[in-house]
Amino acid sequence: MLRAEFGDTAFGTWLKPLEVARLDGDRVVMTVPTQFMRDWIVAHYGDRIRSMWAGVNPAVRSIALSVRPPEPRGAAAAAAVDPVPVPPPVAGCEPAEVAPEFEEMGARLDPRFTFDSFVVGKPNEFAVAAAEKVAASLSPPFNPLFLYGGVGLGKTHLMHAIGWRIREVTPQRRVVYLSAEKFMYQFVRALRRKDTMSFKELFRSVDVLMVDDVQFISGKESTQEEFFHTFNALVDRGRQIVISADRSPADLSGLEERIRSRLGWGLVADIHPTTYELRLGILQTKAEKLGVEVPVRVMEFLAARITSNVRELEGALNRIVHHASFSGRPISIDTAREVLKDLLRAHDRRVTIEEIQRAVVEHYGIRMADMSSSRRARAVARPRQVAMYLAKQLTTRSLPEIGKRFGNRDHTTVMHAIRQIERLCEEDRSLAEDVAALRRRLQA
Ligand code: ADP
Ligand code: MG
Repeated sequence: MLRAEFGDTAFGTWLKPLEVARLDGDRVVMTVPTQFMRDWIVAHYGDRIRSMWAGVNPAVRSIALSVRPPEPRGAAAAAAVDPVPVPPPVAGCEPAEVAPEFEEMGARLDPRFTFDSFVVGKPNEFAVAAAEKVAASLSPPFNPLFLYGGVGLGKTHLMHAIGWRIREVTPQRRVVYLSAEKFMYQFVRALRRKDTMSFKELFRSVDVLMVDDVQFISGKESTQEEFFHTFNALVDRGRQIVISADRSPADLSGLEERIRSRLGWGLVADIHPTTYELRLGILQTKAEKLGVEVPVRVMEFLAARITSNVRELEGALNRIVHHASFSGRPISIDTAREVLKDLLRAHDRRVTIEEIQRAVVEHYGIRMADMSSSRRARAVARPRQVAMYLAKQLTTRSLPEIGKRFGNRDHTTVMHAIRQIERLCEEDRSLAEDVAALRRRLQA
């Protein structure tokens, strides 16, 4: 029941780990593995779970969630080296500055990438909550934290934000952030210098290791191997690891199976493509930071038209603002169109209605003819509506034009389909995920 309502991903992450402990008078007591999950479930699913219980057993008035003691982690964990308990770092014990060798092995954190400057919305709120949790915990609340999502959606920003927060709160902890590419480069250099020992020692002495874009080491076997050893050594020592990639652990082909599965052991948090609201929020925040008045209509225009990712959205805003200050002309939709001509054109060209139809047909396993047929069975009508919705979102075609491509339908039918899908996406997580996946695929 809840699976259908919230979709497989949300269900698997949040609701499956719930266990019913007992019925305590009119209260159902359930347990979850971690405090973090408890808080998240209470905040996001509490009411739903309560009403579901009340539906099953009218005597139930309330629910309680408690954290259950950890379970042994199974054969893979037992096979690994025994964990070495690490005493929590004591403030003032070690110098606060970052030792030079850590500077060199990692990359500098970008001062612009903090939690404060990160705009939170539905598509990223879970990833942000997980990142904040990691930054605030002395021992790993989950290991690794695996962040994934398409380009320009804020993975690197969030990792830097974790780094800054930890340096601020517990400066004695050694935080290293680097790209998987740099990890490989350093490893290869150590091999060449026949000095892998100090490479190993260096990486194993880190408190928090963040490796960005691990998809990069797909197919690079010896780097993977070394990465895996480093990873295991740190996890066993109770150090925190944060990983990012452009896809989920399961989809990281070219990575050894044991590595892939281990990457999924902790918490996997995906950053979904931006919504219109989030894009608007980001534009408002950035414009404020730039100290420029940007008319609301212009921001709405940008939020509607630059849908690919936040990096492009930021770039577009910067261009408009620069143009205005150089030309002395006020910012308007007309100047925006002019300044962003190439960008907007690239966006328009990106997807055709036919590509959308083909992707939807494949996704749902129906036939191309169903896109223009008059069949009303839900199994084909719903995908057809999804395709119309995406056609409106991803192309600049008008409603009548879209209708024409879907078996000569009327523009009011298209309008209805768009409203319907918008409404359903709010309620139906699995549909929302289908739409998000299709959009990602079409914009890739
Ligand atoms: P990724 O690593 O996922 O490709 P980045 O973290 O590099 O993406 O983000 C690209 C740009 O977009 C950065 O300048 C980042 O600050 C900005 N950005 C992304 N998401 C947000 C957000 N939610 N709020 C503010 N800025 C964001
Ligand atoms: Mg990045």
